[in-house]
Amino acid sequence: MQHFNEAAIPQALFHRLEQIGFEKPTPIQAKAIPVALEGNDILGSAQTGTGKTAAFGVPLVTHLLNNDKGNGLVLLPTRELAGQVLVALQQFIGRSDIQTALLIGGQDMSKQIRKLKGRPRLIVGTPGRINDHLTRGTLKLDETNFLVLDEVDRMLDMGFGVQLDAIAKHLTRDRQTLMFSATVPTNIQKVSAKYLTDPVRISLGASHATAKNVSQENVKLADKEKYPRLLSELDERTGSILVFVKTKRGADNMSKKLRKIGHHCEALHGDLRQNRRNQVIAGFRSQKYRILIATDVAARGLDIPHIEHVINHDMPQSPEDYIHRIGRTARAGAQGAALNFISPADGSKWYAIQKLLNPGEKIERIPGPKKSGSSFKKRRRPGGKAPHFKRDGEESHQGKPRFSGPKSDKPAGKKPARNKNKTRWNLKKKRAA
Ligand code: ADP
Ligand code: MG
Repeated sequence: MQHFNEAAIPQALFHRLEQIGFEKPTPIQAKAIPVALEGNDILGSAQTGTGKTAAFGVPLVTHLLNNDKGNGLVLLPTRELAGQVLVALQQFIGRSDIQTALLIGGQDMSKQIRKLKGRPRLIVGTPGRINDHLTRGTLKLDETNFLVLDEVDRMLDMGFGVQLDAIAKHLTRDRQTLMFSATVPTNIQKVSAKYLTDPVRISLGASHATAKNVSQENVKLADKEKYPRLLSELDERTGSILVFVKTKRGADNMSKKLRKIGHHCEALHGDLRQNRRNQVIAGFRSQKYRILIATDVAARGLDIPHIEHVINHDMPQSPEDYIHRIGRTARAGAQGAALNFISPADGSKWYAIQKLLNPGEKIERIPGPKKSGSSFKKRRRPGGKAPHFKRDGEESHQGKPRFSGPKSDKPAGKKPARNKNKTRWNLKKKRAA
């Protein structure tokens, strides 16, 4: 498919695509849209910023526009991403009278219930809140026959797996399922099979590749050199900058420190109230301020075209996260720069990233102290799957948020909420220790 008008999509949708400036399909869209329009299930992968949202959005909206019955459900790992994807899909829907609902945690339940009474045909949300509605009986999915899992490797990872199973029970078996991510590890490909029927695997480029136009620079430094180096980098760089740090408290502290010396910046993490999270993202999108200090809650999917620089002040928890983090820049063919602060304790993290990005190549190890708790941990999941890491701000829980991450990150005086899933909680406690 070279042009959108070669695809069997409704005229109204074709015009919407023209209006929003989608002249030609991107490679993943060109491959996936015709296959999806034929009714196939898809497991698709393509680099960050290459238009995966429309790759599933165009077939999904076609399904909604062409049929009076049959609803759609799109699941994402974070609230911000759910909001962003809903806005993108609403653009494709245009002025048609198809109702939509955003079901995410941290937002008024009664408002969502009111919305659901209008029988929306498209639901976009995070698994925790969607399960809440299913349990309360305020959401029915028996007419939902089109399912999308975006960032599928996160969605099928252990934290969300239980939630997904619960949701899948409510869906018709006779449905179409599309799954996409920039990273699809082999074990995830295996797990995906239980939700898919005769899927077509569509993969563009290497299975784990960073965005094409992102330059990557590495600085080896000691922890105490990080802050002064960050200051000089912020001064030298122009344009919007996204700085990733490890902990929520770290994000708050750094943002405060930078503001004190005159930088325009904000912090984003999972302990902020949802209103605040919305404000922070909206302000960054509209370039009210230049620097966003975030935990991995911002690592996946966010599409903010003016981000020019990603600085990994702290290296990410898993090698795949590295690809996603630096994928917040260099989107839709733009140029971007990534800067990595690699402290002596990051040696094995860096090695794992290089291994993932350059399979088969011999990678030099960075010598450094072996400090426990500072590097990727090879903890086996039950069933021998890859280790699971709970990212800040992800929505796999039901009801009240669960605390995660290093102990120092917990608000003082609060006890961690009990998790029904004991195994995972124990695992996390061990990790935090
Ligand atoms: P991905 O999910 O692959 O990371 P997105 O779906 O968020 O990427 O798309 C990245 C950017 O590219 C978005 O701003 C989107 O509007 C833009 N985009 C997507 N498809 C097209 C297209 N066919 N033509 C022009 N821009 C596009
Ligand atoms: Mg995406």
